[in-house]
Amino acid sequence: MAQVSIESLGKIENGTFVFNKEKFRDAVVNYKIGSMLNTPGLQNAQQWNDIIGQVQKAAMETRMKIPVLYGLDDNHGVNYVSGATLFPQQIGQAATWNRDLVYNAGIITAYESRAASVPWTFSPVLDLGTNPEWPRIWEDYGEDPYLDGQMGIQFIKGVQDPLGSKDKLAVSVKHYMAYSDPKSGHDRTDAWIPENYLREYHLPAFRDAVEAGARTVMVNSALINGIPTHINKHILTDILKKELGFTGFVVSDWQDIENVYRRDHITKDIKGAILLAINAGIDMSMIPYDYKEFYTDLIALVKEGKVPMSRIDDAVTRIIRVKEELDLFTTPMTYLKDYPKFGSAEFEKAAYYTAAESITLLKNENNILPISKNAKLLISGPNANSMRTLNGGWTYTWQGEMTDKYAEKYNTILKAVQKKFGMDHIVYEEGVAYNMKGKYHEDSIQNIDAAVKAAAGVDYILLCIGENSYTETPGNLNDLSLSDNQLALADAMIKTGKPVIMILNEGRPRIIYRIEPGAAAILDIYLPSNYGADALADILTGDVNPSGKLPITYPRHTNSLVPYIHKPSEGEGNPQGGDFYPQYPFGFGLSYTTFEYSNLTVEKKIFSPVESTTITVTIKNTGDHDGKEVVQLYTSQLIAALTPDVKRLRGFEKVDLHPGESKTVTFKLALKDLAYVNPENKRILEEGDFKIQVGNQSTMIKLNKTKIY
Ligand code: BGC
Repeated sequence: MAQVSIESLGKIENGTFVFNKEKFRDAVVNYKIGSMLNTPGLQNAQQWNDIIGQVQKAAMETRMKIPVLYGLDDNHGVNYVSGATLFPQQIGQAATWNRDLVYNAGIITAYESRAASVPWTFSPVLDLGTNPEWPRIWEDYGEDPYLDGQMGIQFIKGVQDPLGSKDKLAVSVKHYMAYSDPKSGHDRTDAWIPENYLREYHLPAFRDAVEAGARTVMVNSALINGIPTHINKHILTDILKKELGFTGFVVSDWQDIENVYRRDHITKDIKGAILLAINAGIDMSMIPYDYKEFYTDLIALVKEGKVPMSRIDDAVTRIIRVKEELDLFTTPMTYLKDYPKFGSAEFEKAAYYTAAESITLLKNENNILPISKNAKLLISGPNANSMRTLNGGWTYTWQGEMTDKYAEKYNTILKAVQKKFGMDHIVYEEGVAYNMKGKYHEDSIQNIDAAVKAAAGVDYILLCIGENSYTETPGNLNDLSLSDNQLALADAMIKTGKPVIMILNEGRPRIIYRIEPGAAAILDIYLPSNYGADALADILTGDVNPSGKLPITYPRHTNSLVPYIHKPSEGEGNPQGGDFYPQYPFGFGLSYTTFEYSNLTVEKKIFSPVESTTITVTIKNTGDHDGKEVVQLYTSQLIAALTPDVKRLRGFEKVDLHPGESKTVTFKLALKDLAYVNPENKRILEEGDFKIQVGNQSTMIKLNKTKIY
C-alpha cells in the first residue's frame, strides 16, 4: 500500500541514475513497498529498463515475491523518457474533437512506456476544465463533461486494452473529483460544490472511465466543501467503489494523506490522517518519502483495532489484482529491444497530425490566411523561439524548464517558418522574453523598437504570445490578462499597420480583448508539443486546413469567466444577471473553407423516457478547400424544476469533406441522457419540451412523462 518516489533512493551520476544501495534495499526488501513513481532526472528507455530491472530483482527477494508497480506521469506521451513521442497536451488533444487521434495517442503512449518497462501511467486527467484560472486547465480535456468523457474513454482504451498484453498499461484517471474548480482559482484549494452539481458535471467523465475499465484512480489533492477528498469516504467508497462498482485501486496524490494533517489541520498528527484516509477508501499512499512512518503507523492502527483488517485486505486485494491483470507476476519486465517502433517516424507522424488537428483558427479577417510561401514575415514575441512554451509543463521535467535543451532537435515556431518560407523571408525580433528561472510567468521587455523597425520590410507579422511552461502551484496566477509587456508588444506591432497574425501559445485562455481588434488573424495552438510548430507552419501556408475547435470557452473579461454550461441568469443579454459575452464560444473554430448545415431531422416528435432516437443532419463543404468540420449536437430543456442549463453538448462527429461534397451525420440520442441531477441527488428526466440544435439548424421534441432514476 506504500508508494515511494525514486529520487529519495538514489541520484544521477554521470547521466545515469544510481540507487543508494542501502536506502533502496531498505525500501524495497525490508519495507516491501508496493510501488514507486517519478523520474530521477531524464533517462532514456534503456536506462529505465535498468532501473526497473533492479527494482523487480529486489522485489523477488521479499517473502511473497510481489512485483513492484512503477508509475509515471505520461501527460502527453511518455514525457519522462528521452526520445519518446510527445503529443499535444490534453487540452490540444481535446481541441481536435477527433476520437481516433486520442485513441492512437493512447496506443503509442502505452507502447513507448512498456519499452521503458513502466506498466502504469498517471493519466488521463479527467478534471473538468470549468475554471480558466486553475493552473492545470491545459492538462484536461476541456470544460464539457461529455467531451471529457468521450476523450477519456478513447485514451483509456488505447492505453489499456487488452490489459495484460506486453504493450499495454494500467491507467490512473485523475484527480477524482472536482479538483479543477477551486473557489480561489488556485491549485489545491477548496471547492464549494453541492453534491448534485458534483454528480451532474464532475462525476460523469469518471463514471465513463470506470465503465471503460480504468484500473486505478488518483484522488483530488484539494478539498470539496471543506473536506479533503483524501478522507471523503462518501466520494471514495460510497460513490466510486460501491455505486460505480470500481474494482481497481485508489491511489492518493502526492503527500496528500500527510496534507490532511499538515495543510488542512484536521488531525493532530500523520497517524490520525492515515487512519481517516485508509478508512475512507485510499488503497495506496503516494507517500512519497517517509515510508517508514506510513508502514509503522498503519500496522499500529490495525493492531489498535482502528483500521479493520478487512480494509487492509480489500486495499491489498485491489492492488494485487491490478498487478495480476497486468501480468506482472509472470512478466515483471519488458525491454526496449522488443519495441522497435519506439520514437519512430510513424509515431512522430501521429503526434504531428494530432497537433495539426488541434490548432484552432479563431479569427481570419478578409480570409488573410492562408498566406503565400513567398511572403516576408517578422516573427516576434516570447513564444517565437521556444520549445519549452510549445510543450508546457510535464515535459522531460515537472515544470518543463529544461525543454529547450532536451527538445533541441525539434522546430520552434521560428525554425519551422524559416524552413517553410526560406531563411531570407524571415526576420526575428522577440520584443519580450520570459524569465527562465524563478517566476516563470513573468516576462521582460527586450527591444520592442527593434521589432517595430524590423516590421518595415515585411508583409505580415507573426506575433507569438501566451505563456511560459508551468504546472500545479507554480502556475497560480493573479491576473488572467495577457502580461502587460506582451500587450505592449502587441500594441506596437498593431500600430505598424502590417497585418498581425496572432499565435496564442498558452495553457489557459489569457485575456486578449484589448488587442484582439487589431489582429488580422488569430490561431490558438495551445501546447502542441514537439511537432506543433511544423503543423502551424503548414496551416499558415494552407498545406493544412485548420479544424480544431475550442474545448473551452475563451473568456473576454477577467471578471466574466462563465463557461458555456451555465444557467439562463448568467446568459447572454440577461438584463439582471450576468452577461455571457465570451471572446470565443466553446466549440468554435474557423476553417479555410465554409460549411453549410441542412435537413436536421429527428425520427419523431414525441417520446417516452425509455426511448432513443436517431437525429440526422446534412453538412456540405461549400468552399474551395478540403476541410474537416466538427458537427456538434446540443440540447436545451426549456423548462425544468431545477433551472436548466442553457444548452448541453450531447454528441459530436468530425467529418472530412472535399469542396462541394455533402455527408449525412447520424446521432443516436437516448432520452435518458437528457436527465439532470436534482437537489436530492436523483437523476430526473422531466417531461416537457427540448430544443435540439446542430450548427444553425434546430428543431423541437417533446418528452411525455417524467421519470426518476
Ligand atoms: C500531481 C499528480 C501527479 C503526481 C505524481 C502530483 O503533484 O498532482 O497529477 O500524478 O504529482 O507526479
